[in-house]
Amino acid sequence: MTNRDYYEILGVPRNASADDIKSAFRKLARQYHPDVSKEADAEEKFKEINEAYGILSDPQKRARYDQFGRAGLGEMNGMPDYATMDFSDIFEELLGGMGFGFGGSGSRSRRPRRGRDLQVQVALTFEEAVFGVEKTVEVTRNEVCSTCRGSGAAPGSSPQRCQTCGGRGEVRQVRQTIFGSMMQSGPCPTCSGRGEVITSPCPACRGQGLERKTVRKVVSIPAGVDSGTQIRLSGEGEPGVLGGPQGNLYLLISVHAHKFFKRRGNDLLLNLDINVSQAVLGADIEVPTVEGKPEKLRIPAGTQPGKIFTIRGRGVPYLRKSGRGDELVIINVDIPSRLTKEQRELFEKLAATLGTTVKPKEKGFLDWLNEALGG
Ligand SMILES: [Zn+2]
Ligand SMILES: [Zn+2]
Repeated sequence: MTNRDYYEILGVPRNASADDIKSAFRKLARQYHPDVSKEADAEEKFKEINEAYGILSDPQKRARYDQFGRAGLGEMNGMPDYATMDFSDIFEELLGGMGFGFGGSGSRSRRPRRGRDLQVQVALTFEEAVFGVEKTVEVTRNEVCSTCRGSGAAPGSSPQRCQTCGGRGEVRQVRQTIFGSMMQSGPCPTCSGRGEVITSPCPACRGQGLERKTVRKVVSIPAGVDSGTQIRLSGEGEPGVLGGPQGNLYLLISVHAHKFFKRRGNDLLLNLDINVSQAVLGADIEVPTVEGKPEKLRIPAGTQPGKIFTIRGRGVPYLRKSGRGDELVIINVDIPSRLTKEQRELFEKLAATLGTTVKPKEKGFLDWLNEALGG
């Protein structure tokens, strides 16, 4: 912690603007950065500069310092808030001078880059997801301009070799950095690294060589997809830059719910009501399947609510292998709430034979359900 006046440390007047303070700090930070300065007390000086800038660059702290001096800063004193300090441009300058591409001009390199990926949502019915479907999807993306075929030059003209860089797309310059003078190469400012300049731009694309187009694609969605499944269409995204490959198009699948069926992985769950006599006496019934063609199912006598019957191979096809999941039929016994006179008399007769005792149960519906569903 320094005892010197912060304004004095940065060498700025008390009414210095935020920009003055920043540029004074940058100048000093470059001069005294311990990695580059040869002065013996560089580290101490650098700390001092940081401390001063930490206070003076923060309008609130600066105001307190102006009014009350160091005492007004309390615990903040000597603790520059690095989170609020913006070193990025200074480091960029340091690293840029060393030949590292680091944001700024570095990212505008002339290397080919892959085009951006695009995403399109595709909504499917339950059955479409289960059995697969051909869908037409629309995607709006940049395409090679049809007027200039991508050259960016007006029809009848052609791009000219850039005079600044001689068509190399790259210029070299000597820069004065804190490390001394360095040879630095970067993208040509005249042609932005293309090596060519367009003297009369294509009127359709204003020289960009690209035009916005909505294209329709027929896509075959495989059987077994579910909400959240992504299907990649390679090379259907945005075009690459400087000859880089085209990006990908991702189809993000969402599936509507079914009226009866629920999916659990590749199995289909179906809640099915049977009546009391079917549960008690047993019955041969027909159960709906996702195909729409009913399957025969034998309900044995004495079937309890919650019993699950498995119809093999009537579930959802596996996405990347052969075979299908199962259909699980979860039985509910429908207790009639309205009876005809005749039914009422029959139930009363039945009741007389069944007695009136009740008994607690070790296992119930939820246990069955959990066991049957494996968890
Ligand atoms: Zn064009
Ligand atoms: Zn150039």
